[in-house]
Amino acid sequence: VRVLGLETSCDDTAAAIVTGDGNILAETNVHQHKVHEEHGGIVPLLAADRHLQKIPLVVRETLEKAEMRMEDVDAVAVTRGPGLPASLVVGLAAGKTLAAVHAKPLIGVHHMEAHALMARMGAEQKVQFPYLCLLISGGHTLSLVVHDVNHHSLIGQTRDESIGVAFDKVAREIELPWIDAQVGGGPGAALEQMAREGNAARFPMPMPMNQSTTARDPGFSFSGIMSHVARMREQRAFDHTCRQDQADLAAAFQQTAAKHLQKKAALALAHAADALNTRVTCMVASGGVASNQAVRQSLSALARRHSLPLICPPPRLCTDNGVMIAWAGIERLRRGLLDPYDVDFIQRWPLDQLKQMPYVPRE
Ligand code: ATP
Ligand code: FE
Repeated sequence: VRVLGLETSCDDTAAAIVTGDGNILAETNVHQHKVHEEHGGIVPLLAADRHLQKIPLVVRETLEKAEMRMEDVDAVAVTRGPGLPASLVVGLAAGKTLAAVHAKPLIGVHHMEAHALMARMGAEQKVQFPYLCLLISGGHTLSLVVHDVNHHSLIGQTRDESIGVAFDKVAREIELPWIDAQVGGGPGAALEQMAREGNAARFPMPMPMNQSTTARDPGFSFSGIMSHVARMREQRAFDHTCRQDQADLAAAFQQTAAKHLQKKAALALAHAADALNTRVTCMVASGGVASNQAVRQSLSALARRHSLPLICPPPRLCTDNGVMIAWAGIERLRRGLLDPYDVDFIQRWPLDQLKQMPYVPRE
């Protein structure tokens, strides 16, 4: 099968065509980083406007690269939520129309399930159910057991900011010039580059959730480290015009965030075994921050201690893309999980409620 996937939940307009055995026939991804960075974050209406402008050409270009026409596509998969409503409707309207006009099956995809299933793509099928998955991205920080397609048990989630936002805000706090450097993956990826030159020991940071009441909680928290960095800046504890200071601070933040993730992933593994009575076959990390090498090393050390493999999608497939939507579409298509042509977006959509989201026609 060949599935066309469309993604517009946030600030990337993306499309891809993927085959049932995991071959990427074509992909197109238009970023909007530049549009939003001068505002210091994503502006929802600007994002929707950009999607509206770009989606026709992104779809057309993807078909052309694959040397295919809509008739050759077996199904259309499109992100249904969660995300920014005005952005979601653009992709959804495009996907629904393409599918309806060409009488193709339509698959509404949960964006976070797509991140979670991405690691399964490929001929070797390295990742088997059930597995422990860490979804670490710009909007989410979650640990869960993926029992099957459409069946997930949430274990921990962040109490405040996501890990991706923490990377982005710290990168801005130390004024990393990531746009000039043209780093894909946003400020977080620029922070990783800078951290390579840094000495983490110079600026020790507080470990989040280290109290006796929170140490055994599998949730996450990043607001403490973020306000620590903000305070350091106010107190001029570092000089943001000095490259070595920037690098040392980046390294210290990255090390603390990676260690926090590792501790909470260990609790999630214990929870899967004890409370959920599930023997996971491997650990998966996905979402933009899973492209970070320090984060991967920290999680893979934990996985090794439990004799589990750690599997992460290649970095460019960790951040938002059309391939993951097309692949999730294939997984759902195989199980007959299709949607009607008038399917709606869902702005807030907890991953463990996927099963309980039956289709209700509108009045
Ligand atoms: P969600 O999937 O939760 O809706 P999103 O789609 O905006 O959020 P992703 O595209 O999966 O998020 O990830 C983007 C985030 O990943 C950004 O916060 C970005 O800074 C971060 N990121 C990307 N590359 C890296 C890296 N190498 N190191 C750290 N963070 C990174
Ligand atoms: Fe995402």
